[in-house]
Amino acid sequence: MNPVVLSLAFSAAVLASLLVKFWLATRQMRHVAAHRDAVPTAYASVLPLEAHRKAADYTLAKARFGIVGDAFSSAVLICWTLMGGLNWLNDEVLSLVAPHWGSMGYQLVLVGAFVLIGALLDLPFDLYSTFRLEQRFGFNRITPRLYVSDLLKSTVLGLVIGAPLLALMLWLMQATGASWWVWAWGALTVFQLAAMVVIPMWIAPLFNKFEPLADAALVARVQALMQRCGFRAKGFFVMDGSRRSAHSNAYFTGFGAAKRVVFYDTLLKRLSADELEAVLAHELGHFAHRHIAKRVALMLVFSLAGFALLGWLTTQTGFYLGLGVTPKLLASNNAVALLLFMMALPPFLFFVTPLFASLSRRDEYQADAYARDHANAADLVRALLKLYEDNASTLTPDPLFVRFHYSHPPASARIAALGLADVNLVGAVA
Ligand SMILES: [Zn+2]
Repeated sequence: MNPVVLSLAFSAAVLASLLVKFWLATRQMRHVAAHRDAVPTAYASVLPLEAHRKAADYTLAKARFGIVGDAFSSAVLICWTLMGGLNWLNDEVLSLVAPHWGSMGYQLVLVGAFVLIGALLDLPFDLYSTFRLEQRFGFNRITPRLYVSDLLKSTVLGLVIGAPLLALMLWLMQATGASWWVWAWGALTVFQLAAMVVIPMWIAPLFNKFEPLADAALVARVQALMQRCGFRAKGFFVMDGSRRSAHSNAYFTGFGAAKRVVFYDTLLKRLSADELEAVLAHELGHFAHRHIAKRVALMLVFSLAGFALLGWLTTQTGFYLGLGVTPKLLASNNAVALLLFMMALPPFLFFVTPLFASLSRRDEYQADAYARDHANAADLVRALLKLYEDNASTLTPDPLFVRFHYSHPPASARIAALGLADVNLVGAVA
């Protein structure tokens, strides 16, 4: 591989993806601002102008902040690679650590130092987003104390889980010869499948309380619906999302014994029993259509292709040189290769994000249709309006921005797909 060609292609991908992101964000801002002062006619009687304006202002603030964040991340990426940041860090860690802790110790410390620096650079953005942006719109509920405790917990978890996994990857790269990437892919696949059981059952409860539904009348309805849909009756949980944010949500996760539907307490409080049933039916629709299994299968295919590519790249001196690192002759370059690969891939992959976003939106339409068939469409519409209002999601996003960035279709599109284009007919929401 020619290092100059790689440098040029990488720079072009970083620049092009940044420009496309800017262009999409400005389109989104123009579109939302132009519709800020009038609720779309189909929603005139169900959505107060004040809520519509708040959604517009929140969307605008997030888009502005997103532009700053994207520009900063691209600058950091170029500093790490073409400007020689990783090369410098690699030299320092190699000379400081390798003589004492050997090859594996050096590689683990290198990745650890890289992750730590990246996290420190991101921290101001996360702090601003949580304590300024979310706060300004009345969404933030997290205290500084809880924020710090979350940070400590995730750091410890990252070390306890991430370090052994990384050591295993590096060992496989070293020990299994030219076909290491097949072994590494297999190991990562086992790890990811295990994570789908371990995260909902043991990790998520470290951060939130998950409780079964308390209200007996609701329990009966939930169980009846689950039975109708052929779903295990014990998989319904309420999560104390209100500890951190006023946003409300419901989601599905896990497989086997870990399969579950989770409602935020914030959402539960807002919905009537009928609406709750409609949202639950939507989540069950995701299981009925095997969306998790399909997503996992797709991920396995893509990660195998990714590992095959990395397997080839690690043998190419041009791969390192083209991304600003001089490979070592007397030390392992595997950790460096992993880091370069994880940095170089996203600017190229950005251009396939519309494909993944559209698959995800198709899943949402399927789940909505399932909810319409197993519960009630008007209830789902009322619930969706509450959900979108609680999250200040705009009803009037830019269509092209949606194609790139939205994993869920805008409420207006979902409601139209349910065959209830004139929402005024579903009755008052608040
Ligand atoms: Zn969904």
